[in-house]
Amino acid sequence: MSREIDPEYLDRENLEKLQLKRLKKVLDRVYHKVPFYREAFDARKVKPDNIKNLKDLERLPFTTREDLRAGYPYGFLTSSLSRLVRLHTSTGTTGKPKAVLFTQKDIDQAARLITRSMSMTGAGPEDVFQNMMSYGLFTGGLIFHYGAERAGLLVIPSGTGNTERQIELMHDFKTTIVHITPSYALYLAEVMERMGMDPRGDFNLRIVYLGAEPYSEATKSKIEEIFSLDAYDSYGLSEMNGPGVAFECKEKCGMHLWEDNFIMEVIDQETLEIRRDSEEGELVLTTLNREAMPILRYRTGDLTHIYPDPCRCGRVHRRISRIKGRVDDMFILRGVNIFPSEVERILMGLPEVGRNYQIVLERHGGLEEMRVILEIKKRFFRGSLKDLKRLQNKIKARLKGELMVTPQVELVEPATLPRTTGKAKRLIDKRKI
Ligand code: AMP
Ligand code: ZN
Repeated sequence: MSREIDPEYLDRENLEKLQLKRLKKVLDRVYHKVPFYREAFDARKVKPDNIKNLKDLERLPFTTREDLRAGYPYGFLTSSLSRLVRLHTSTGTTGKPKAVLFTQKDIDQAARLITRSMSMTGAGPEDVFQNMMSYGLFTGGLIFHYGAERAGLLVIPSGTGNTERQIELMHDFKTTIVHITPSYALYLAEVMERMGMDPRGDFNLRIVYLGAEPYSEATKSKIEEIFSLDAYDSYGLSEMNGPGVAFECKEKCGMHLWEDNFIMEVIDQETLEIRRDSEEGELVLTTLNREAMPILRYRTGDLTHIYPDPCRCGRVHRRISRIKGRVDDMFILRGVNIFPSEVERILMGLPEVGRNYQIVLERHGGLEEMRVILEIKKRFFRGSLKDLKRLQNKIKARLKGELMVTPQVELVEPATLPRTTGKAKRLIDKRKI
């Protein structure tokens, strides 16, 4: 293990000094080893030496997903092939994946950030950790796994699927912490109940790490309530080594983005101008501590804002707000911009609503329609049809009031909609088909 002191508790001045020192090294490396960056620097008439302080970052080029794809498979590599030990790829359904290559040092560093994040939430060697994320090319499985082992926890690498078996393991080995997608967590509770078990009373769960897909604060509270535990938001993306980029502390007021490893910026996704703290925009990240594939000003596509005020926990690494969605998740219906996460926030805030929903966009003739199919708690189906109709109208009015478009609302019984053990597919856009 490295003898370097973990900079989790550095003060602002020293943190920024460290950032600049690391940034300069990165610039030198990419300029000399990655043709994409050399060309982009030359086009802007910038040399690594021109970057004298962190503010100069603005002079550097952005890197987009398309750039990474164009560089597939080895275009962004700055180490020799013989130093590489791992390949991960991003999830996604279209086009070539984005390849992410790791040296041993990169794996160790990514794992170290997970260890730091887990310890921050109070996890330790006494805990039994069940990692219910997909193992394999997706980083959420293996990277989290390594970090948890480093922290000395007993790790159950159960992955996704085979839910009843997972529940059995969780029960028998007295699992205390799980890492899971929010949609799978809700499904997990359903299966526990179907098996005649109580998610609160029959298990030893005390912490859940939720991540990998956008979800609302209301869903988080629902999961905390169902299982009676503390939920922490966990953010990462494969392009930045996977999970452990930003993580909630015990104060639960946004996620500390580990600034000794990344420089963060929030930009206006249209004009590309830098946004001020508290202003929402697209998160842009520069890696500071990566050997195989350093990346400059990566446009994550994720929408968030920076909290300007210091956290009560004392860490100076600034916090980002819950990811509102992806820039490209947003859909436009009859001219109105809508984020699926907005719809979710409204729905999950209603006490009658169950655990699952789907948004279907359709075109009837020339008219665009949004249909929201929503699972409602079982007891509402025992009442009269009139009551159900009233509830349907209430939900419709609420959605209309907040979104400015009138949706069709369909109420269905619990466990009607398809379940997923990975990232949920909540939006079905049939307009393009
Ligand atoms: P992947 O590269 O497959 O790990 O996917 C990364 C993407 O998942 C991110 O760019 C986000 O869009 C999404 N994501 C990851 N963690 C979270 C989180 N805690 N909240 C919302 N979205 C997340
Ligand atoms: Zn904090």
